[in-house]
Amino acid sequence: MSGRTATGTLADRGENMQFTRRKLLKAGAAAALGLSTGIGAQPLIMSTSSELVPRTGKRRVVIAGGGWGGMTAARHIREQTPDLEVVLLERNPVFWSCPLSNKWLIDVVDTNFLVHSYMSPARRHGYTFLQTEIVDIDRAARRVHTAQGHLDYDWLIVSGGIRYGFEAWFGNDRKAIEYTRTHYPTAYIPSAEHALVKQKVRNFKGGTFVLTLPPPPHRCPPSPYERACLMAWWFKQNKVPAKIVILDPKPNIAPITAGYKMAFSELYPDIITHVPNALVKEFDPFNKVVKTAAGDFKFDDALPMSPHQAADLVWKAGLIGKTPDGKPTGWAAVHPWFYNVKDDPQVFVIGDSVGAVSPHFGHYPKSGHVANRQARAVATYIGQQAKGQELKPVIIDNLCYMLVNNSPREAISVQFDYKIGEDGVLRQTQIDDNERRAELWESDLRWVGHMFEDFAAG
Ligand SMILES: Cc1cc2nc3c(=O)[nH]c(=O)nc-3n(C[C@H](O)[C@H](O)[C@H](O)COP(=O)(O)OP(=O)(O)OC[C@H]3O[C@@H](n4cnc5c(N)ncnc54)[C@H](O)[C@@H]3O)c2cc1C
Repeated sequence: MSGRTATGTLADRGENMQFTRRKLLKAGAAAALGLSTGIGAQPLIMSTSSELVPRTGKRRVVIAGGGWGGMTAARHIREQTPDLEVVLLERNPVFWSCPLSNKWLIDVVDTNFLVHSYMSPARRHGYTFLQTEIVDIDRAARRVHTAQGHLDYDWLIVSGGIRYGFEAWFGNDRKAIEYTRTHYPTAYIPSAEHALVKQKVRNFKGGTFVLTLPPPPHRCPPSPYERACLMAWWFKQNKVPAKIVILDPKPNIAPITAGYKMAFSELYPDIITHVPNALVKEFDPFNKVVKTAAGDFKFDDALPMSPHQAADLVWKAGLIGKTPDGKPTGWAAVHPWFYNVKDDPQVFVIGDSVGAVSPHFGHYPKSGHVANRQARAVATYIGQQAKGQELKPVIIDNLCYMLVNNSPREAISVQFDYKIGEDGVLRQTQIDDNERRAELWESDLRWVGHMFEDFAAG
């Protein structure tokens, strides 16, 4: 280990248990994600009452969740404010990127491209990575409880992503929830689900493949349409007699409306059907039928994307916002550009868990780009707080490229810019680039390369 390394005992033991990137890559995607092989199982059993990492005398930032937001924050806090100790907590043994995972489904990129070590960037930037399940967050005690012990913090960043809201469809019917989870994974959370979805697409022999889209807001709004295009390309290429039915709760495709419409009608007219206003009323995984506001649909296979909500961690930390009539919004209530909590200003939520930030447009797009930008902003804010300075707003942006054709490789894109209006309210500008072309695919590769270099390079 290098002299700068601040990796702690669990991480070291994780290495001893051979959770190395090369081995994981060899074992394939499912193994890399830890489920089918049991690699994700906790390597150590310790009392949750024991202290995970002893205090060093330095003030400490704990980051809950090591995805796009959490990993970026870890690097930039260490870089901007080196006298703070940073501990990153994550349940998965390796980082798996959801961005570009649709392309991985049809082998445009390989597993090696999406999987990154947690240990290497931790060493490079001098923070501690611990692989563990976070079981509770006690803000009154400034303490995070994990499966292996607890950890006290001076600053907390919650970047846990999303959870699936199956209860909206099934209530407390655990049998239906578990059946749907296991038989109809959707791969919207970094997990072994991605490998299962890939198998499904590759093994599909023909018939109707239904994709139900979650109602907004949800993770990466343009990505389900991209997935439909790439699945359609695969079926066409391999002469699979498949029909893809997209059941969309919205009245229209969005974002990149025209670009997707042209892709569906010009490239996949006999394969993709887009059904608007099709909010799911009932999903029956046993009889393979979905009832929607636009009619009932039978299916041979499905990717039933249930409503999305902020990750469990946000609920555990008591950070979910309330509607005017006192119901949970399902998303974190934080400041629109400082991302901290009103009565607990050293607690931040970033990434997809963040709730509505403007009456004009609601939520920021739930994208890796936004999570990265928010994480960098929060690194600056924590540095300012650590020095006793006033917080100065850092305004973010968003950019997404979506591949719609694989031969030739052609993408479309969408860009969002933000500014704080004179009334102190956030405004959003959206620019759709609807003309599919190779140049945008090349830009996508450059974009993701810069992103991985920013937070995942070791
Ligand atoms: C198919 C698909 C395509 C996408 N394409 C793009 C794209 O092209 N561009 C783009 O910008 N975005 C894209 N996205 C969106 C992007 O993946 C998310 O917006 C981004 O990952 C959000 O970052 P995050 O840090 O909020 O959450 P995540 O990256 O999901 O990180 C959350 C982390 O917290 C961990 N965690 C959660 N709970 C616990 C717990 N209790 N204990 C320990 N660890 C925990 C999780 O394991 C996870 O690693 C895509 C998403 C999907 C699904």
